[in-house]
Amino acid sequence: MQKIDKIYFDIDGVIRGVASPKEDVMALLRFCIDNYPGAVYWLTTHCRGGENHVYYALKGEFPEEFVEELCQKVLPTEWGALKTDAIDMDSDFVWFDDNLFEAERIVLEQNHVLDGFFKMDPRDTEMAKKALEFLKNFSK
Ligand SMILES: [Mg+2]
Repeated sequence: MQKIDKIYFDIDGVIRGVASPKEDVMALLRFCIDNYPGAVYWLTTHCRGGENHVYYALKGEFPEEFVEELCQKVLPTEWGALKTDAIDMDSDFVWFDDNLFEAERIVLEQNHVLDGFFKMDPRDTEMAKKALEFLKNFSK
């Protein structure tokens, strides 16, 4: 992976229910929507099978204005059994998730894009900061 075309975000364990300070999580999301407009996607059980419940998942987690901005700027994906169904394998992507199923790992490996998966640790208070650093190093 040389550049970033698309960014995929899980919600639970990545931006909600995490030990990272909320300011750090918001800084990470802010960086993404500002620097990758139209290229940031939800990849979460809160948005799948044609239904998008992200607003309700994030309501109360962040300031209302920010939740609304996220809902406008982060795009929905369509997937069913595997999150990898929604990923554009021809793009250079980063996928932030705290969990990767074996079946999904196999799909990523088969497409030679396993390096696009960024494992998030919800218990790590520095997690959001580390993810932001990772992205900033790409834009240099
Ligand atoms: Mg998760």
